[in-house]
Amino acid sequence: MRRIAIVGGGQAGLPLAFGLLEQGYEVTVVSNRTPEDIRGGKVMSSQCMFDPALQIERDLGIDDWERVCPEVHGIGFAVPHPQERGAKVIDWKARLDKPAQSVDQRVKMSAWLEQVEARGGRLVIQDAGVAELEALADTHELVVLAGGKGEVVRLFERDASRSPFDKPQRALALTYVHGLEKTPDYARISFNMIPGVGEYFVFPALTLSGPCDIMVFEGVPGGPLDCWRDVRTPQEHLAASKRFLEDYLPWEAGRAKHVELTDDKGILAGAFAPTVRKPVLTLPSGRPVFGLGDAVATNDPITGQGSNNATKACKVYLDAILARGEQPYTRDWMEDTFERFWDYAKWVVQWTNSLLTPPPPHILNLLGAAGQLPALASAVVNGFNHPPRYFPWWADEAECERFIASHQTAASVA
Ligand SMILES: Cc1cc2nc3c(=O)[nH]c(=O)nc-3n(C[C@H](O)[C@H](O)[C@H](O)COP(=O)(O)OP(=O)(O)OC[C@H]3O[C@@H](n4cnc5c(N)ncnc54)[C@H](O)[C@@H]3O)c2cc1C
Repeated sequence: MRRIAIVGGGQAGLPLAFGLLEQGYEVTVVSNRTPEDIRGGKVMSSQCMFDPALQIERDLGIDDWERVCPEVHGIGFAVPHPQERGAKVIDWKARLDKPAQSVDQRVKMSAWLEQVEARGGRLVIQDAGVAELEALADTHELVVLAGGKGEVVRLFERDASRSPFDKPQRALALTYVHGLEKTPDYARISFNMIPGVGEYFVFPALTLSGPCDIMVFEGVPGGPLDCWRDVRTPQEHLAASKRFLEDYLPWEAGRAKHVELTDDKGILAGAFAPTVRKPVLTLPSGRPVFGLGDAVATNDPITGQGSNNATKACKVYLDAILARGEQPYTRDWMEDTFERFWDYAKWVVQWTNSLLTPPPPHILNLLGAAGQLPALASAVVNGFNHPPRYFPWWADEAECERFIASHQTAASVA
């Protein structure tokens, strides 16, 4: 059977490994961390996944936490009033057609890595660099590099034509907590947008100690939410999280009065520039290596799409590998396969990047109108499942007006 090496045991690499193993391929997974390293390490993501990506995991038989992970049934949007403390200029919510879920990657990746050998694969613990990639390329017919944001992925050339930003657009922080007050009606992602300052969203998830909530902070660089550099301890991180809510989002501070960290490693602060890279790198020997997941398309977490994208990319690559049969995995085949994924991902990248710059008036109108038009709110919320649905209206003022008007007409005849 054909031999494939996958470097990187994350949300992109491991589902691909499992899909290939199920089809009888010989698979080597290379991870620079052991399951224990991952389980005992810091949180890495807020990893909320929407139904289409969860369905890929179900189809692969790797949806191990579906019954125990809290469900997220909708999304709420709020924008605080610029002058009146505690008042909101936008405030609405809508249900997702099917629930989303977030399983702490410390729980998920450590367990999945432990399953590699049980499912017939080979697991190598190694920090792969050029020499290791060469050795893998020597002994495998295809090497996939799914190293996330690891140093090694810089070997892929940045694609400037697909990467409008060369600097981080947000200072990011995560705070995993127990004790957050639930939202009324149904569990949801509570997404708060504070123009000029940044965004805060929070939703239920599953972590090492059971159900929890994940607070995600996205601070505009240099602004008041770009505040994590001087934080020294986990407790200071929690205090900074609560202080921000008290200062800017009192309704969220009210829910967070009694929160405690899930654990001392349940925090993260950092920043990265959203970047798309060329999908194939050439080793000194001339052999190609194929990039997958964050390694070649990293999005800002503002739209919560990275794990979803990684899973969807994995599905495109898996189908392409299976369809390839016995033919060689050439550079052209790799580029064509990536372009097939890009046909989807370009919309995710465009939509996500659009939220990193101040919203144009038509988007403010859209978000305002969604408060009066439940079907419009539903369209915005369910776009998270499949962001190509946002186009053309998200990016085009006239199309957006038409889209809003069509919902107004539908509402007036209903
Ligand atoms: C703050 C934050 C919040 C987020 N929230 C969400 C969200 O709500 N929803 C969502 O969908 N996405 C979210 N994401 C993004 C999501 O976590 C990533 O897009 C996703 O994990 C990418 O999967 P991946 O497999 O490509 O990379 P990773 O999950 O990073 O996995 C890569 C793996 O490769 C390993 N590795 C790296 N270098 C090497 C090497 N040289 N040799 C061997 N192994 C190596 C790493 O240790 C890691 O285990 C968020 C990200 C951040 C930073």
